[in-house]
Amino acid sequence: MYNERLDKRAFDELRKIEAEVGVVPNANGSARFKIGNTEAIAAVYGPQEVKPKHFEKSDRGVIMCKYDMIPFSVSDRIKPGFDRRDMEISEVITNALSRAIFLEEFPKSMITINVYITQADAGTRCASLTAASMACADAGLPMRDLIASVAAGKIGDSIVLDLTKEEEDLHEEGATDVPIGFLPSKNEVVLLQLDGKVSREDLKKIIAIGKVGADKIYQIEKEALKRRFSNESKS
Ligand code: ADP
Repeated sequence: MYNERLDKRAFDELRKIEAEVGVVPNANGSARFKIGNTEAIAAVYGPQEVKPKHFEKSDRGVIMCKYDMIPFSVSDRIKPGFDRRDMEISEVITNALSRAIFLEEFPKSMITINVYITQADAGTRCASLTAASMACADAGLPMRDLIASVAAGKIGDSIVLDLTKEEEDLHEEGATDVPIGFLPSKNEVVLLQLDGKVSREDLKKIIAIGKVGADKIYQIEKEALKRRFSNESKS
């Protein structure tokens, strides 16, 4: 039984969110997205010449994405370096963004995306994807839509939105975590992973609660981008 959340949130309530773009002056586009105690900073460079050359595609651009948790992002210092988890998350971010960006407009070019987790409390791949998508929009890349991403899941008999690390670790209740990424206005899913076990019916409910959260995140992303461009027109 999981009748009350550890942090007292409603089951369909997101953690507190902060979002801003234009946070890295030397990048072509950048964003910071914070949800609860998870924070991601993304910087986008390009389109630029593809290096190494053998990654070049004659009919479309390529995305080179690197996700990294900085050593002080969790309480036990992380061993610096690129491990298998970083590789996997970099790949899922790349795949999701390939569905959002019109890569066919940049043949023989490369878009480089660096995402750093400065604080981690679960949901880092979702926060990274949301930050990376805002950074791509900030860089002026043509996109089908922004990506809004959040994890949802099941703890005990309850379907929950935006799990914390403490909730993910509730093994007695059996926590299931499903990171989801949406193109909200297209109603398309661009990221869906599953850590745990759920029935098909429950998975549908988890995706539905995830969509409610993603729609709220989408509004916050759009507001952050609007703020940036209205500030620019004033200066
Ligand atoms: P996600 O962050 O997308 O949920 P995981 O499920 O792989 O990805 O990781 C869950 C959480 O575990 C992370 O958000 C972070 O809080 C914690 N974590 C991951 N890697 C480490 C690590 N090397 N040291 C300490 N905590 C970690």
